[in-house]
Amino acid sequence: MSQVVRGVIARAKGEPVTVENVVVPDPGPGEAVVKIQACGVCHTDLHYREGGINDEFPFLLGHEAAGVVESVGEGVTNVAPGDYVILNWRAVCGNCRSCLKGKPWYCFSTFNADQKMTLEDGTELSPALGIGAFIEKTLVHSGQCTPVDPEAPATAAGLLGCGVMAGLGAAINTGDVGRGDSVAVFGCGGVGDAAIAGAYLAGASTIIAVDIDDTKLEWAKEFGATHTCNANETDAVEYIQSVTDGNGADVCIDAVGHPEVYQQCFQARDLAGTVVLVGVPNPEMKLELPFIEVFGRGGALKSSWYGDCLPSRDFPMLIDLYRQGRLDLDRFVSETIGIDGVEEAFHKMERGEVLRSVVVID
Ligand SMILES: [Zn+2]
Ligand SMILES: [Zn+2]
Repeated sequence: MSQVVRGVIARAKGEPVTVENVVVPDPGPGEAVVKIQACGVCHTDLHYREGGINDEFPFLLGHEAAGVVESVGEGVTNVAPGDYVILNWRAVCGNCRSCLKGKPWYCFSTFNADQKMTLEDGTELSPALGIGAFIEKTLVHSGQCTPVDPEAPATAAGLLGCGVMAGLGAAINTGDVGRGDSVAVFGCGGVGDAAIAGAYLAGASTIIAVDIDDTKLEWAKEFGATHTCNANETDAVEYIQSVTDGNGADVCIDAVGHPEVYQQCFQARDLAGTVVLVGVPNPEMKLELPFIEVFGRGGALKSSWYGDCLPSRDFPMLIDLYRQGRLDLDRFVSETIGIDGVEEAFHKMERGEVLRSVVVID
């Protein structure tokens, strides 16, 4: 028996989202139905709504969620009904060329549910990042369910499903930040602040937050920034050099995804340092760099996909750190809203008023 539940739908490019009835099939082989408890509002949801990802409307939005497994299909062994899980968009296949090389966090053939959720007239929905979690219950591949300690509230745990994991992982996994390192993070929204929190967790001793909004720089301090720089008032490259003995930072993280920011990261980095790109550029952007310096400065220019996370390894570990009071996930939650509050949350996000609005579903 399929079920009919309420979900947030983007029907057409740029049009306000609507809450509609969605038909969720029973889980087939390898699938699970998950009762969603909370789901964060991420920039990617807005990008889907604006047609910036692809044209496969209508979309079922939401992808940063935690909840409880309600039922599983044939052959599912990694989770069972009643398990408390964070949903991920990296259900690794184990067989692609990256998995076979022992790098499953790059898996090139991740799993999603085979069946489609639909509107009541039978129109197939495209779930955001293969999840679709602004909804009472969603259908996913069982590998997209990562069990974690149920003591962590869903409003906090769900955030690890996307943006906060991307930022933490940009510092910890991709940037490989270590004890005593200097780290500069450009862009102090949800992902950038998570990168700051990651650098702090990893033991960085100098953490420089760069933004053009003083409110965001104040937020950054709460996550562990030791220095802040308003790039509208101060040259960010010079500032970073001035607080790192003239050398530049060991790791510079671009959480904006703009060529000018990337160039600043490139220049603000110490010799043999690392640049990590975790902000998402738009398709029209081009990057220009002095090629001799790409060689001469050495080090690494890296991109971070989903924080190069391995959900089964990273989610339970980060929830443990949260439970121990070492990673303040609650601080990312600016407000909790109902399922009908997503459109307004998009506007607040565009105005830079919130780190995360989180939809809570009873
Ligand atoms: Zn794979
Ligand atoms: Zn996201």
